Amino acid sequence: MKISNAPYERLDVPAAIKRVEGYTDRLKNAASAEDACNVLADYIKDERHVFTVLAISSLRSSQNTADEFYEGEEQYYAEATPALMEKLNSMYKAMLENPYRKQLEERFGNVAFINAEMALKTISPEVLPLLKEESLLEIEYQKLQGSLTVEFRGETYPVTKMGKFKTSPDRQTRKEALEAEGRAYLAKGEQYDEIYDKMVKVRTEIARKLGYENFTPLGYLRMTRNSYDPQMVKNFRQQVKDKIVPLVAKLKEKQAKRLGIDHISMYDDTVMTLEGNPDPIIEDEELYKAGVEMYRALDPKAAEMINRMDEMGAFDLYSRENKMSGGFCTMLPDYATPFIFANFNGTAADVEVFTHEGGHAFAFAMMMNDKNLLTISEPTLESCEVHSMSMEFICWPHLERFYGDKAEKARLIHLIGTLEFLPYGCMVDEFQHIVYDNPDMTPAQRHEAWKELEKQYRPYIDFENIPFYSQGRTWQRQLHIYTNPFYYIDYCLAQTVALEIWEIMVTKGWQAAWDAYMAYTVQGGSRTFVGLVEHARLISPFVDGALDGVAKAAGEYIEDNITLL
Ligand code: ZN
Repeated sequence: MKISNAPYERLDVPAAIKRVEGYTDRLKNAASAEDACNVLADYIKDERHVFTVLAISSLRSSQNTADEFYEGEEQYYAEATPALMEKLNSMYKAMLENPYRKQLEERFGNVAFINAEMALKTISPEVLPLLKEESLLEIEYQKLQGSLTVEFRGETYPVTKMGKFKTSPDRQTRKEALEAEGRAYLAKGEQYDEIYDKMVKVRTEIARKLGYENFTPLGYLRMTRNSYDPQMVKNFRQQVKDKIVPLVAKLKEKQAKRLGIDHISMYDDTVMTLEGNPDPIIEDEELYKAGVEMYRALDPKAAEMINRMDEMGAFDLYSRENKMSGGFCTMLPDYATPFIFANFNGTAADVEVFTHEGGHAFAFAMMMNDKNLLTISEPTLESCEVHSMSMEFICWPHLERFYGDKAEKARLIHLIGTLEFLPYGCMVDEFQHIVYDNPDMTPAQRHEAWKELEKQYRPYIDFENIPFYSQGRTWQRQLHIYTNPFYYIDYCLAQTVALEIWEIMVTKGWQAAWDAYMAYTVQGGSRTFVGLVEHARLISPFVDGALDGVAKAAGEYIEDNITLL
């Protein structure tokens, strides 16, 4: 059977709520540990089906945004599912207060209980109207972003189509494109400020109603930060400032030399060489086949995953009209397969669909075999990004399949990109700490704070007088800052672990890196993020000196290969 032919029937949400009430009662009245365990085992089967139905509806509406049937389904779920989520909290409470909690933890893992406890602290009936207000503001931001157009050289472009001009080999084109984009953002600047100001205020109000001083502790709970706190994150950011910023500054000097300019302006930042970054030499169907062959060659377990996905048609990769933009990997537990959605565009991003989303798919496929896995104890977001960001490196020996003789150059650009990302990601995180710790800041003070952070994290970039970008407003383009507060450091933490796996690969060989990757991935969500990392004998990003080894190894590798660029 192919996923495209999978039958769909609307999930009856009130009936699902009734069932959750049933599990809750059974948990409360369990006569033995075995009884209590059976309830959760039944719930897991139910939950997997619920997840599959919701995933199929969401997937089909992304595959065809003009499909009115699935648009209606999505609307139904948007309105109906918050009540289901609320009801789940009662079940979590019955789990936490259960007389057989110890036996339940033994079978289903203690992370489910740690996370359930955190989930209960993020919501109360009193804040439900404020939560609705918050999500309406998020929709408002997305609408504003989606409708933004740029006037450039006599034409009007959606902001998403400016990429090719901003990375043009011609410097003047890049400069004009970025200025045009900056003007477009700046024209809506007041709206961006107003939406964010309201968001900060409503989030602060929710937090205070729940008993917190400001939004920061609530933000950490919402992100299920179950093994680290703001002080540890601050320490990690300091390591990035100390070890990575100077390294990237040196790389930027070399980049300027290659481009024949005396320093890097904002519009030069992503352009690594005069001739441009390498694109794959194959596309669409051929690239798909190369991706499948790569996983078949990687390892028998990876082959099993990709063969199943290939057989089930668990991909939708090619761009077409009415398809939602972007890419992701989702899970369809009823069909025992992950599903990858993408929009191929002929650039390195197509290869990343396989190397990055493929890593998520591989981890999902392994987790689906665990019959005792509750959704609440699936790995948290930073833990999941280790699966995908490490897989990008694990796939290095296979890049010739996609890039031919440009593979070595693609590898080098990938590595430099991962280092350059760390300062930016930390800046996004520190900015949000400043904002939520000081909820009464004015929009102008927020822009000043961002400007100050740019000096600390990206002193090597000259913003000249480019509208918007030179005014401390760059953060307004970053979706996460508006819609997923504190979700960003996750990528930096995961990248640090992925770079460790890269370091193992270049110093001890591919097999050693694969073994480390598997030692981490087989654990699923059975430990917290720090627990997963340490149990796989990797260095936690929070340990002092965590970045020393990778910064040194990456610096040397780039130095040795820089002539390729
Ligand atoms: Zn990812």
